[in-house]
Amino acid sequence: MFSDDLVAFRAEVRAWLESNRPKWRFQPYYTEDGLAQHLEWEARLFAAGYSAPGWPKEFGGLGLDHWHQLIYDEEYARLNLPERVNKMGLLHGGPTVMAHGTPEQQEAWLPGILNNSDIWCQGFSEPDAGSDLAGLRTTGRIEGDQLVLNGQKTWTSFGVIATKMFALVRTDREAPKHRGISFVILDLDTEGVEVRPLRQLHGHAGFAEVFLTEAAVPLANVVGPLNEGWRIAQTSLKLERGMGRGTHTKMLRTVDEIARRLGADPDTGSLERLGSHRAWAFAYEQATYELTDILSRGRDEGALPSVLKLRLSEILTGIREEERNLLGERAEQIPAGPPEAPLPPTQREYWHARAGEIYAGTTEIQKNIISETALGLPREPRP
Ligand SMILES: Cc1cc2nc3c(=O)[nH]c(=O)nc-3n(C[C@H](O)[C@H](O)[C@H](O)COP(=O)(O)OP(=O)(O)OC[C@H]3O[C@@H](n4cnc5c(N)ncnc54)[C@H](O)[C@@H]3O)c2cc1C
Repeated sequence: MFSDDLVAFRAEVRAWLESNRPKWRFQPYYTEDGLAQHLEWEARLFAAGYSAPGWPKEFGGLGLDHWHQLIYDEEYARLNLPERVNKMGLLHGGPTVMAHGTPEQQEAWLPGILNNSDIWCQGFSEPDAGSDLAGLRTTGRIEGDQLVLNGQKTWTSFGVIATKMFALVRTDREAPKHRGISFVILDLDTEGVEVRPLRQLHGHAGFAEVFLTEAAVPLANVVGPLNEGWRIAQTSLKLERGMGRGTHTKMLRTVDEIARRLGADPDTGSLERLGSHRAWAFAYEQATYELTDILSRGRDEGALPSVLKLRLSEILTGIREEERNLLGERAEQIPAGPPEAPLPPTQREYWHARAGEIYAGTTEIQKNIISETALGLPREPRP
């Protein structure tokens, strides 16, 4: 199904990744050694022009179209190479600045994302504003040419290593809920910004809470018009739910690896169950190709990103539940080690799959979007 051009591109990317991929076993990025390993690997990608191949050439990318980007992602995932430490900047923040920022903002911020001299995080969620994102309470008070921020952000992925945050703040308290919000970029070393690491159940300390107390940022850091941050944020939210960056390749690889390692047995039903998971992973791959086709034709993707997001978490959870099922009581065994050691891979991956039901909009919210926008069912009553 792939054109000769795409087949040739796949061979080129595969050859480069195979001969340049690191030989070391990656440590988590939130440890000092781990971060150094990740940065060294990403510096190799940057030097070869592979930091953000889908970014336009004018912003330092290779200008790849959707199909070439998909091939690149498949090859990256096939080799089980690590998640990018600057994915919030590369996938969400950077493209939002490309779409809505001024030339000055693009020039100031985009190069730092490509070479990791700036690592970005996303400051949308707050203790009382997740699904109801427009209920956010962090304020931005205009004082001269500055925006003075007060409030708290939570669930901040990569917050412990980030240097910049793209955040939503309320700049007009009188305006209707969705109208008085602005999209702002802030340096995390600004006075009045405190980043507190959060360690999770699965042992990762990648999250942070971010407290803002009279933190002054230049008004020039607002992306798009003041008070129109809700519209600007839709660009990054859509990107977050959309293309799965080789997720289909990872899913298929995971099912095959579990079947090989733990055995697919017709007598216990595990062969049938793993086969069913593989069929779902295959369907997910085909849906990803459909979305790629829609995007490459410039057509409206409608609710398809939400369908993919919903199924992604359900399929991954199902695969990891089957792994636990096959492991039996071994699934709960924790090797001897310090209490702060990360959980063993099986448990970590299971909990990470469960988190998929929450991040980038919960399962219930995706169902609301699908029912309202794709099926045309009545809108949920809103306060
Ligand atoms: C791994 C992970 C990484 C994350 N990274 C980031 C990040 O980097 N930056 C960031 O800003 N945020 C991040 N988040 C936060 C994430 O976006 C929120 O957790 C999510 O939007 C849900 O919000 P909430 O946790 O406040 O839950 P709530 O909105 O309080 O929801 C609680 C429950 O109620 C349900 N619910 C709520 N409203 C409705 C409704 N109208 N109809 C039906 N059910 C409803 C929800 O589906 C959910 O089951 C991350 C979350 C996770 C798990």
